[in-house]
Amino acid sequence: MEEYRTFGVELDDGVATTLLQKLDEADAVLVGLGAGYSAGAGLDYFDTKTFQEYCPEMVRLGYHCDYELVGMRDENWSRGRKWAYTATHINYVRNVFPVAKAYTDLLALLSGKDYFVVTSNCDRQIMRAGFPADRFFEIQGNYDDFGCSARCGVPSWDNHDDIQRALAGIDHESFECREETIPKCPVCGADARLCFRHSGHWDEDNARYQRFIEEHSTGKLLLLEMGVGLSTPGVIRTPFQRLTTNLEGAFLVRVILAYEGQPVFNWAGKIPESLAGKSLSVNADACKLVTALLSMRE
Ligand SMILES: [Zn+2]
Repeated sequence: MEEYRTFGVELDDGVATTLLQKLDEADAVLVGLGAGYSAGAGLDYFDTKTFQEYCPEMVRLGYHCDYELVGMRDENWSRGRKWAYTATHINYVRNVFPVAKAYTDLLALLSGKDYFVVTSNCDRQIMRAGFPADRFFEIQGNYDDFGCSARCGVPSWDNHDDIQRALAGIDHESFECREETIPKCPVCGADARLCFRHSGHWDEDNARYQRFIEEHSTGKLLLLEMGVGLSTPGVIRTPFQRLTTNLEGAFLVRVILAYEGQPVFNWAGKIPESLAGKSLSVNADACKLVTALLSMRE
């Protein structure tokens, strides 16, 4: 069984200076962003207060936060209800919530570096903050893409107009969309669906990600993993560990905050013992760390 170091270092001036040095010395930086980064930026799916504000109808129905509704698997909802929530949620994340400082600060911190960002966040903050389209990969897809639920072969499409129509069609008493406002496939008329990994540009973006890794397989590659937890480790966490193992010049920085009451064995900041000397784990809010590093440089 793999041995793990138990604790990361706390963020202090010495650690921040080391991280800035690592960043400056690197020939290239591969950034991995997980749900913890967007949660730190304010898009927290466990946040009950914001949920109450933007979707009081769901609170009335007995729900507390978005996380209860991920996938909506065990809900016995009508299609109208499902779309009322989906449209309200996407509109909040995509159009109501502002561009977060955590993302614009990250862009500023990386300015002048050769970098690439892989993110599991679907919220489009990375695009809205102004990252160039050829420098990021939304590996789980994003909230702007709809596809056909009947998989008739139509390419994914931008859902902005569908969301606006669905929002306008919500009856706020029953919290259901009127049938004629439920998003539909423009070709076959089946219901639309969020298509995440099945969007038309996924393969192209993935190829760009692979190319970046190949181009920097020699030289100093800094892997900066931030807010990546344990829910879907195969998406960013495990590949980053493997890259660090396999590439001679790679160095992994894993930044994630231990939360109150979290058992030590389950802290996501742990790094395999085999990566000792090629890695650093920091127990910190990654968004605050980025802002701190940026202010040290300015
Ligand atoms: Zn279709």
